[in-house]
Amino acid sequence: MLVAVGGVHGNEPAGALALVRVMERLESHSRLRSGDCVALAGNLPALAARRRFIDEDLNRRFVTESAERVERDADSVESREQRELLAALESVLRDARGPVVLLDLHTTSGAGAPFAVFADTMVSRNFARRFPIPVVLGLEEQLAGTLIDYVGLDGHAAVGFEGGQHEDPESVDHLEAIVWIALGEMGLVDVEASWLQTERDKLVRAAAGAPAILEVTYRHAITQEDAFSMLPGFASFETVVAGQTIARDARGDVTAPKGGYLLMPLYQKQGDDGFFIVTKVRSFWLWLSALLRYARAGRIAHWLPGVSRVAGEGHRVRVHRAIARWYSLELLHLLGFRRSAEEGNVLLMERRAHDLP
Ligand SMILES: [Zn+2]
Repeated sequence: MLVAVGGVHGNEPAGALALVRVMERLESHSRLRSGDCVALAGNLPALAARRRFIDEDLNRRFVTESAERVERDADSVESREQRELLAALESVLRDARGPVVLLDLHTTSGAGAPFAVFADTMVSRNFARRFPIPVVLGLEEQLAGTLIDYVGLDGHAAVGFEGGQHEDPESVDHLEAIVWIALGEMGLVDVEASWLQTERDKLVRAAAGAPAILEVTYRHAITQEDAFSMLPGFASFETVVAGQTIARDARGDVTAPKGGYLLMPLYQKQGDDGFFIVTKVRSFWLWLSALLRYARAGRIAHWLPGVSRVAGEGHRVRVHRAIARWYSLELLHLLGFRRSAEEGNVLLMERRAHDLP
């Protein structure tokens, strides 16, 4: 079953528009061969208002710790939207025949090539790698409470897609192509291979020049008081050098703290992320990490210097920063561990429960 969600952010209607096109075509032309395709619209009041959110960001509310969730359950517009979306998701997941893949369709305020993000479980990674666009690793370490992280934790493949700039009509085309490719890859539709190839080519053209695999190395967090403003003209996957002025805020110039590729420069008022910096990852490292994970090497992660087990919790380790070697964190990442909390000089890292298919 393919479940696709559009418009979790209300100022990003492209995903919902792409889903309308897909569903219409599925009904009139090419029927589903097997399985199901479910399309959901995310934040309805925000979509109507064409705003990212009304009271709070819906895509930061999907936290898994129940205590945190209750605390956040104020009577906001987004808490109601989240309840409705979760109820719809739970009912389709309950009736699902066969494996479930979730796509969460987004667009960005700045221009740039389409790309995929996911919480790095092998199931989600394997699915994301089937699209001819860059994959960006490590975003879930920076952003807590996203829908894909929440659904991915249950063992389903869950991939988020950024289709391009919010108002660019091509963003709708890109997201539509992504849904068709997903349906094709899952063997759910009866369409000609040549037609699917045309959809694939659209993405190849849009992503030309961008690296295939990248990793987030920096997030520039902002608050309203910062009065953050990006200098005009930046796009995702544009290279920046350390020290380059790329934005301004209440304190003056904002410079890139390190070199790399810029990701999602912010050109809208709402949002907590000014920009991200990502760097290229060679495919060798993905291959090595898959090898280690399929060999279930995560079970011996506590053999690394400065790394210890959390009693009774097999998926968690403590990293004692004063003792841990520089390579410990890198190796833990390869083994599928992600940073989950910090307690002073101790870092808590956890492995996704359903990493392997
Ligand atoms: Zn979004």
